[in-house]
Amino acid sequence: MRKTVISLLSLFMLLSVFASSAFAVQNHPSTKGETNLSSIQTYDGMIKELESLEKRSKGKLEVFTLADKGYEYNQSEQGRDLYVAKIGNGPKKVWVQSRIHGDEPYGTEATIQLLQMYTSNQSAQYREVLDELTLYFAPMYNPDGSEMNIRQTVLQDGSEKRVDLNRDWAEGAFEAVESKAWYSFWADIQPDYGLDIHHQGLKTDSETGQAITMSLGISLAPGGPTLPYLEDGLYEDITRQMQVHVYDALKGYGFTNIDRYTVGGNLEIDIRGGVVSAMMLGLNYEGLNEDNHSHPAIFFETSGNTREGNLGQRGRGHNIRQNTLGIQELLHGLATEEVYDADPERWDEIPHPEIIGYFTDHSGIVPVGY
Ligand SMILES: [Zn+2]
Repeated sequence: MRKTVISLLSLFMLLSVFASSAFAVQNHPSTKGETNLSSIQTYDGMIKELESLEKRSKGKLEVFTLADKGYEYNQSEQGRDLYVAKIGNGPKKVWVQSRIHGDEPYGTEATIQLLQMYTSNQSAQYREVLDELTLYFAPMYNPDGSEMNIRQTVLQDGSEKRVDLNRDWAEGAFEAVESKAWYSFWADIQPDYGLDIHHQGLKTDSETGQAITMSLGISLAPGGPTLPYLEDGLYEDITRQMQVHVYDALKGYGFTNIDRYTVGGNLEIDIRGGVVSAMMLGLNYEGLNEDNHSHPAIFFETSGNTREGNLGQRGRGHNIRQNTLGIQELLHGLATEEVYDADPERWDEIPHPEIIGYFTDHSGIVPVGY
């Protein structure tokens, strides 16, 4: 009974509150409003930037497509090549993907900005990252959606079906060719950590009314119905530590205001079909990941501003900048292992509403303490 009440309440809140997010049901903020589309990185623009960075990097940066590497599935539904930027020579591998949702532009630009820093700057901090880590960036996971400025990709089998690529890594899924392509590559690399860059609608702190600039998310909630049971609970701590590390690091920059990613006002998410969830679950699709390799992963949701004409270029600049800094700080924390110094319990200090349950794609809404 109590569960039903919570479900109805939460469902209502979900319907009324959802603007957009990594795991939301609805579409993301449209850029048809006040955002100047010409200011957003295009697919061709990205290729040009990546290739020019590769040239100037003196061998540090390798840019390739999945077709270059001979993958059976290697393009988008509409036939665009899928690009990877690889940098660093360290033993630990990190997967960083951006723009799985085509209408969430800033991850691509943040990736390019970060690559500029890593290829041109000689600072000790960057050297440390590149010595300890090998970074695999997918700067535009969904090029078709990006070019069409929509969340999904569109199947080219005559159905014109729109597929949310962030629901497509699951048994019985893999409807879009992008999913098969990226999954094959992921299964080959077997990363140690993952990061997924998203962009959510304008969000304000429910208590202070201040604009939230970024939300930190884990697609399988710590303490929730799934994560505690993976790898003997190993990801329970490390996902929270990764977030605490980013939270502490970004607080110091001034223009960021960070909270924890929740939906429906007071629910954590537990979405097993999401790409970074599948990474934590060690999904073995078509026998490509036979040893069920898995790794911890988190996501960023940069907030607001695409529809806020008054923030204009400065809002856009801050959005890109905080993504760049967030990724850089996380990578540095992983390279130095400072991430492991963070107290996972301090995850509770990252602002969040009182959580009453978990919004799942497997069991409906599950109350806390189920
Ligand atoms: Zn998203």
